[in-house]
Formats: sequence, structure tokens, C-alpha cells
Amino acid sequence: MEKFISFDEIKKSLEKKETDCRSIVQYYLTNIQTKAHLNAFVEVYEQSALSQADLIDQKLEEGKAGKLAGMVIGIKDVLCYEGHESNASSKILENFESQFTTTAIQRLIDEDAIILGRLNCDEFGMGSSNENSAHGKVLNAADESRVPGGSSGGSAVAVQANLCTASLGTDTGGSVRQPAAFTGVIGMKPTYSRISRWGLIAYASSFDTIGIFSKTVKDNALLLEIMAGHDENDSTSSRKPVFPYSQLLHFDKKAKVAFLKETLESPALQPEIKANTLAILEKLKSEGHEVKEVEFPLLDYLLPTYYILTTAEASSNLSRFDGVKYGYRTPNAHNLESMYKLTRSEGFGDEVKRRIMLGTFVLSASYHDAYFTKAQKVRRLIKEYTENLLNDFDYIIIPTTPSTAFKFGEHSGDPVAMYLEDLFTVQASVSGVPAISIPNGKDAQGMPIGLQVICNSFKEAELFAFSNYLSELTS
Ligand code: GLN
Repeated sequence: MEKFISFDEIKKSLEKKETDCRSIVQYYLTNIQTKAHLNAFVEVYEQSALSQADLIDQKLEEGKAGKLAGMVIGIKDVLCYEGHESNASSKILENFESQFTTTAIQRLIDEDAIILGRLNCDEFGMGSSNENSAHGKVLNAADESRVPGGSSGGSAVAVQANLCTASLGTDTGGSVRQPAAFTGVIGMKPTYSRISRWGLIAYASSFDTIGIFSKTVKDNALLLEIMAGHDENDSTSSRKPVFPYSQLLHFDKKAKVAFLKETLESPALQPEIKANTLAILEKLKSEGHEVKEVEFPLLDYLLPTYYILTTAEASSNLSRFDGVKYGYRTPNAHNLESMYKLTRSEGFGDEVKRRIMLGTFVLSASYHDAYFTKAQKVRRLIKEYTENLLNDFDYIIIPTTPSTAFKFGEHSGDPVAMYLEDLFTVQASVSGVPAISIPNGKDAQGMPIGLQVICNSFKEAELFAFSNYLSELTS
């Protein structure tokens, strides 16, 4: 039996004393065991989750429990949690134990959320299929011969397969929204800087955001309102006010919605995704909303800009993994230089090495201006174009992905084909604006389709309210 689809159901059962936190944790532990072959969890904190549950049950008795009492959460293997291992799904961080806890996770714990374990992902968040993980691939529970998406594949499947109530992922170019679309759950990337990055193992620092997977918009909104806000450990985290998003879900306005012509005309777009996206746009029109086709001439520049800038940032961020300070050190070195070289050659996977090399190239003295500086300029153009659109319209609606979940191995020999999977998600990442993926039906094979809604920076309240309304239209 599937229970606990939403946190509201959990809270009701707790209030009526039909269940307690220990039984909820046990329910998820059983699911994790029976679905272990999905390989979503890398590590389950069984004992600490159960003892935490007992403590919270006690607090509930005393009427002293926090807002998230009964919420059981899984965390992506790129988020540090003190006293626990974090590997970024990489051999180079083998046996690395976190020295401190990610601010966002600490804020959840402070409200009595239970952290159930660590979730599989692509190495350092680099990938779109979860095939680049030192912990092995994650299976999509809707069809186990297909990928769950990436890089937060484990986080998506954990929610899809009812292994926890909600989960944390990270989204640099789509790693929350794309796997959410592939698994039929809700995945949200807030505005860049809305949630502190303290504790997140960096991939591309000017893009990285912590994001949330859940089965309902309300649970997603609730987790954001608890994690968001300034953090003195991350000077880039925003000081803008945080709203009680989960209580602002009522939507009774007439929205102005833009859809991007080039995305729906893209030859890469699977016909069923196009049809379902157009169907929802029609429904919105018939409900009296203004829906307009607009041009987005920069579509072809999105992926080159994203991949030049993120690989540049990654080559710099990943230089710290040298065998001296963290994790893996080669046993085969014969001097200092070979220790560095062999540690990195043996410790990083192929995709990460490809990106470090590409990033080092675009930052090199002779090519810096031709690639890195130019890409920064194009980023500015994309950001301005997107923000201007979002000043004229309340929302942009586009598909989350060009295709539904593909088969294992389908793109793994062809990095460019894999990068094309990110075609529709990188716009929000390059621009830093918030975006969400909600389920929008299925294709002929029964694989979930995602619908993406994008909003202007710091308008998460508006984004959640509209998505909540849209989820009723899509179901
Ligand atoms: N698939 C994209 C990439 O490989 C996005 C990854 C992410 O958002 N972490 O870069």
C-alpha cells in the first residue's frame, strides 16, 4: 500500500495518533529494502533516523515539536552532513567524512525533519542520466530499463518510489527539474542565492542551487520557506525576505503566460511532449489567461554558454581534489608530481575529467577571451532577455526536457547528445531565475512528461501558487 503521499497526510495521521514518527521511518525503511535494486540510497542512516524519530515522538507528546515533525528526507551525495560520509559519487572523495552540516539541512533538522540517508547522483553533479556515478546507476521506477535523469537521479527516484517524503538535490543546469520530469514528481530550483550553498560540494559556483523534490507543490513550498534566507557562511546568499510560501498557494488571478516558439518548434522535441504542452496552454487560454507565443532567438546559444562557463568554474573548483587534503590518494605514486597526477587520473571519472580539461582550455591565456569572456557576455544577454520577458509576462512555460526518460546506454557514448538533454533547463540556470517542473501526463510508453514553469527572480511565491493551480489542470 502506498501511503504518505503528502506531508499533510502525515501530519493528520500523527494528530489522530494513527501513527508515530518511528512507524513512519520504519515504513520508509521497509520500502528502501524492498526497492534496494533501484540503487537510489547510497547510505541509510537507519539507527540515527529511528532514534531521532523517538525524540520527535516525545516532543509531539509534549506539544514542542517543530514544523517538520514527521517529514522524512533524503539528501543528495553532494551535501555535507557532519559526521557522515559525502562522496559526490566520486572515487576521489572515497571515505571522506563531512566536518560540518550544510546550512539548508541544519535548518530542516532544527524544525524536526528526519534525515534518512544519502542519495546517489552523477559524479560532482555532472550528468543527465545518473550513469556517471561511482556508486553505480540508479533505475527509474517507472521503467527499470530507463535512466532516472541526472544528476540528482537518486533524489528523484527516492520520492518517486516512496522511499522518503521529500528529498534534496542540487540544480546547476537542470539536475533537479530534469530527473523530476523523468520520474513524474515535482522538482524545484529556486532563484540563485535564495538558499545558502554552504555545505554544497561545488560544481559551478555561479550556477549551483539546492533544489527540492516532492510529490506535492505544498511540501516543496514548505521546505523552501524553511531552508531559504541569508546565511553568514555564504556571502552570496540573499538577504531578501522569505515568505511563508506554503500558505500562499491560493491562485485566483488571470496570468500572462509566454511560451517560447523555438522550444516548441525544436526538432529535438518528442511529439507527445509538444502535444501535452500545447494542450495545457490551450486549457489556460480557455480558463481566461493570456497566453502568447514569443520568440527566443538565443536558444542555440544556451548550451554552449552553459557548458563553457560551468566547465571553467568546475576546473577551478575541482583543483582542490589533489590527494593531499581529501579522500582518495593513489598508492602508485613515486614522487609528489606523480601523486597529484595519478590521484586525479585514478580518482575522477571520464566525464569529470572531460569537463576539467575543457574548462582549463577555455580559461587558458590564449583562449580566455575567445571563449570564457565571450560566454560571460552571452550569459548577460540571455539573462537580460529572459528577465525582460518576465517583466512583460508573469510566467514562461516550456517543456522541461526534449524527450522522456531514455534507455541506459542510449547517450553514454556521445557527450553532445547527453548535453542536448539539458536544452530547456539551462535557460533558468544561466539567468539565475527560479523554475519548477511538474508532471504533465505520460508518453505512449507510459513514461512521465514534465512541464516547466519559469518566473522572475525571488517570485517563488507566485511560482508555487501558479504551479499548484496548474497541477490541478494537468491531472
Ligand atoms: N546535466 C547538466 C550537467 O551535466 C546539469 C547538471 C546539474 O544541474 N548539476 O551539467
